[in-house]
Amino acid sequence: MTVEQRTPGEAGVPAAPSALRMVIGGQQVDAADGRTFEVVDPADGRVIATAPLGGKEDVDRAVAAAQRALDDPKGWSSWSAAKRGRTLQRYANLVRDRLEELAQLESRNIGKPISSARGEALAVSLVFEYYAGAANKLFGETIPTSKPGLDFTLREPIGVVGLIVPWNFPMNMASWKLGPALAAGNAAILKPASYSPMTAIRLGELALEAGFPAGVVNVVTGPGGTAGAAIAGHPGIGKVAFTGETTTGQEIMRLAAGNIKKISLELGGKSPNIVFADADLERFARESPYGVFDNCGQDCCARSRILVERSAHDRVVELFAEATRKVVVGRPADEKTEVGTLVSFRQRERVMDYIRIGQEEGAELVVGGTVPEDAELAGGAYLLPTVFDNVSNEMRIAREEIFGPVVSIIPFDDEDEAIRLANASPYGLSGSIWSRDIGKAIRTAKRVQSGVLSINSNSSVHTEAPFGGYKMSGIGRELGMHALELYTELKNVYVDLS
Ligand code: NAD
Repeated sequence: MTVEQRTPGEAGVPAAPSALRMVIGGQQVDAADGRTFEVVDPADGRVIATAPLGGKEDVDRAVAAAQRALDDPKGWSSWSAAKRGRTLQRYANLVRDRLEELAQLESRNIGKPISSARGEALAVSLVFEYYAGAANKLFGETIPTSKPGLDFTLREPIGVVGLIVPWNFPMNMASWKLGPALAAGNAAILKPASYSPMTAIRLGELALEAGFPAGVVNVVTGPGGTAGAAIAGHPGIGKVAFTGETTTGQEIMRLAAGNIKKISLELGGKSPNIVFADADLERFARESPYGVFDNCGQDCCARSRILVERSAHDRVVELFAEATRKVVVGRPADEKTEVGTLVSFRQRERVMDYIRIGQEEGAELVVGGTVPEDAELAGGAYLLPTVFDNVSNEMRIAREEIFGPVVSIIPFDDEDEAIRLANASPYGLSGSIWSRDIGKAIRTAKRVQSGVLSINSNSSVHTEAPFGGYKMSGIGRELGMHALELYTELKNVYVDLS
């Protein structure tokens, strides 16, 4: 084991390491050219760490290490599925043991409220646990062909897989990819976003501690345009799994074309929250601010368009605005905080531009739209949850993914119009439907073009169920047993029995 043990700091919480290192071939390493970049705490703008500025040469090193791990005849490829599962279970246990450390790292790195970060660290452990159990339940089939003989299928690992993840849920997005990739027997190269390398590196270290052989889990940090592009275009990588912006997904598809890489893409969204007048409006208003403002709105599933039946419009606006004013915006480290900072000051600028655009387009600003007045929060990338009313679906704030705490309320007259508005988007990731008429709710769910929907709930993600998007929200389904298909090749074998 090459991982250095860290000394816990105050209250049993380890201090953030000042010089992070990548994990390649079982070793902690710097970038080949020694360059680094700074990691900033968005709650106060301070540099909390440096990370290696990896590039093409580092990706080449990681691919070579991963391939060596796969080629070792007594190594990773010879492991039984049950052994892979046991090691994934150890990985899950280690994450749970280090839950507080991982949560603190994530919270400081991207301004996420500590209570949310704890929930996300637990979710990582549960995802690894799920795929620990799934490893030896990945079956082939026997197929009755017209020719006499025996026909059967095998599910085989693809080989070296590249996993490129965003900054909004860094460790969760990593676990959604690492879990099924490792359960199926691949060797992985994980690349976190430049804003958020801390938990990805820690997950790389914990993979070694769990007992995965050197080279099976590699972590390369560095910019998307160089390190990410080197992964997407690498001829030695058979599959790339990507979560991020739709435009980046398009670039990944172009780069992956070189060697016809398998690809799965989880991209952007502009999800509708459809409220019929017969819904429990109080419950909708109580729960739905979290369906859009959670993670400061930096959530691909954020229900950023509230489509409300006109007869309930005024009541919904009143209740929702009241509930939004109660959302606790504060320091990420504060236990009571519900909404922390945006990931960076740059991201806040981008979101504030949209707030200006919304006003120019004629939408009515009902709540928020500014930074908090609290002097204690002046040094961080904070922004108040913002509600726009009287929005039309043609406005930019209703069409484009803002990726910040901004919601648009749009009235509709009947079921058909609600569905037409919901589907009038290039995206199709998630959404909710609120109604006491279950027939109407299910009828609506069947007509909304979206990969993930919830009825009388804002919950999109279940470890055991498929997650992914229609249209420009992506390709493929992560989580559940469906994700294993993304990390396997299907081989058909026919045996002549004569
Ligand atoms: P991004 O596309 O800018 O970056 C995502 C990752 O891709 C990062 O690791 C980045 O370094 C890398 N990258 C950037 N350019 C690249 C290139 N040319 N080649 C290869 N890799 C490259 O996205 P982001 O800003 O980090 O994340 C926010 C976006 O992610 C939002 O659009 C959001 O909706 C989406 N998202 C989607 C899901 C989902 O499951 N559908 C989940 C979370 C986030």
